[in-house]
Amino acid sequence: MTKPCIICVAITGSLPRKSDNPAVPVTISEQVESTHAAYEAGATICHAHVRDDDQNPTSDPERYLRLFDGVRAHCPDMVFQVSTGGRAAAGRDRGGMLAMRPDMASLSVGSNNFPGRVYENPPDLVDWLAAEMRRHQIKPEIEAFDLSHIFKAAEMNADGRIPGDIYIQFVMGVKNAMPVDRPAFDFFVQTTRRLMPGAEWCAAGIGRHQLTINDWSIAAGGHARTGLEDNIRLDRDTLAPSNAALVRRVAELCDRHGRPVATPAQTRAILGLRPAA
Ligand code: ZN
Repeated sequence: MTKPCIICVAITGSLPRKSDNPAVPVTISEQVESTHAAYEAGATICHAHVRDDDQNPTSDPERYLRLFDGVRAHCPDMVFQVSTGGRAAAGRDRGGMLAMRPDMASLSVGSNNFPGRVYENPPDLVDWLAAEMRRHQIKPEIEAFDLSHIFKAAEMNADGRIPGDIYIQFVMGVKNAMPVDRPAFDFFVQTTRRLMPGAEWCAAGIGRHQLTINDWSIAAGGHARTGLEDNIRLDRDTLAPSNAALVRRVAELCDRHGRPVATPAQTRAILGLRPAA
């Protein structure tokens, strides 16, 4: 298998805090620096959340723009992906940063449980976020927390609400959502291929499952996500020293499976993104 593997680094997230691992970047300058190091280690997509001055998640478009500008200045061809997830804001405030036209944005197309609450994605909000992404020519990354989300993505692809080839990510290992389960993972891949033959897919494993899911995805021809948003440890006893360290671990796995790590240009071509500005 020689298809290049795209490595996405989820640098910050809305849950892990500096007190959990001091390497979690929270200020804009820390985020830019951490992204740059991860880029040099092989990551070509930066999945970003921003924090306010008290380290709480926010969807403030101005903060997102500052981060976007900082990443563009240091890593000009890196793909920038914003989160429209529900921890930083509610309703249409979740998509306020889309007007700045990042390359990509996460899009959850259905609801499920999270560790302490319901992750609500009502159909009208999903349609609105998808419409904003079409309007600003932003490629969605579908976050599939459940099998029904794969079917929903296929439906929205078929009727044009999500145009072009789908990029979908399977998220496994979130408490109260989909566990890390090999037959279920294989069925997700199989179902995606059956419903959306042109789709590219990726997978994210949360916490101690990160490396397991990386290994399964890379071996099965998918792409890989890592980063301190999903996991703050190298192993049970060792905190990850940086996002770059987690990226290097995935690049080594790619090597072991005979998959080259995708360059920024290959990443943009595989995902059908516009060239870097
Ligand atoms: Zn995220």
